[in-house]
Amino acid sequence: MKQDRRDFLKTAGLIAGTALFTGHSNNLFANNNFLNMKEAKLKLSWKPYTLELRHVFTIAKNSRSTTADMLVQIEYGDFTGYGEASMPPYLGESQETADAFLSKVDLGKFENPFELEKILGYVDSIAEGNKAAKASVDIAMHDLIGKMMNQPWYNIWGFEKEKTPFTSFTIGIDTEEVVRQKTLEAKEFKILKVKLGRDTDKMMIETIRSVSYTPICVDVNEGWKDKNFALDMIHWLKERNCVFVEQPMPKTDFDGNAWLTEHSPLPTIGDEAVQRLPDVLKAHGVYSGINIKLMKSTGMREAYKMLTLARALGMKVMIGCMTETSCAISAAAQLSPMVDWADLDGALLIANDIYEGAKVIDGRVILSDRPGIGIKKI
Ligand SMILES: [Mg+2]
Repeated sequence: MKQDRRDFLKTAGLIAGTALFTGHSNNLFANNNFLNMKEAKLKLSWKPYTLELRHVFTIAKNSRSTTADMLVQIEYGDFTGYGEASMPPYLGESQETADAFLSKVDLGKFENPFELEKILGYVDSIAEGNKAAKASVDIAMHDLIGKMMNQPWYNIWGFEKEKTPFTSFTIGIDTEEVVRQKTLEAKEFKILKVKLGRDTDKMMIETIRSVSYTPICVDVNEGWKDKNFALDMIHWLKERNCVFVEQPMPKTDFDGNAWLTEHSPLPTIGDEAVQRLPDVLKAHGVYSGINIKLMKSTGMREAYKMLTLARALGMKVMIGCMTETSCAISAAAQLSPMVDWADLDGALLIANDIYEGAKVIDGRVILSDRPGIGIKKI
């Protein structure tokens, strides 16, 4: 008898619990205008946009003053998610290729927008490459889902908002005068990212050090071809308060980069060598860490997986960007509480941002409280 009563109480408790949960869920749905969403369909749209750079930007391989971009939005009932594809020319995508790719994406056939693995797996399977175009859909889907849940992604992922790192400010390869000027303008920043890889490397560093002792990191963009020269440069840089070295030698030189990492007094970070999830395993033992960028990884979902895998392998992680609006920057910033270094100055380098989102204040990434990727249109 006693046993029966206990069983009854247990069952009753279970039912009460279920009722509570269901009640809570209904309230959640009601609060978020989920009612009458049965008929809603995911609707994708996009338009080309050209980012105007504040300064001509020079790295080891080229110079430019604009970046091709595609602005994307996904509507579902009353909700709208925003995304973006930034396509610097050397990565091989363009507004034409993005337009052609996005024309093939049929999101209307998916009934449950929360099934991101299925939806984004489908988007990835449509064609090879097109990583920035895929990222634009991924970011817009994340923004949409976050808004439906009324939570920013750093909360959904369980990250601490306050743990965002300092972000570096990028100084491109330039004349002594411009480098000095840019260094002085970057006083707010706690770390400077210096582009190297041409025959002016020591001039660049000495010019910066003539006006500032802010820690630097350097990005060689595969510009050093000889491992002994690279190691000498890294020792020289370490004496000048350099923190790490990004993509020192060509991405195809696995043995050279691995040798350099083994002997280097500073951490090395793979960037060009690390595009998507399988590249993290290949980079293990070759670099000390990886640079994750949404435009390489096809978006936030794979970036999260790369972060998790790199951490499991004991590797350093940085999160970087292209020149982008605050849309893609704020999306990347959702991951930033979990990285060692951030390089999220992309929106600061353009003159025609159209969103407000994650900000850089006193050199630190500050996340917004807004749901999704945390942006609003300006
Ligand atoms: Mg880089």
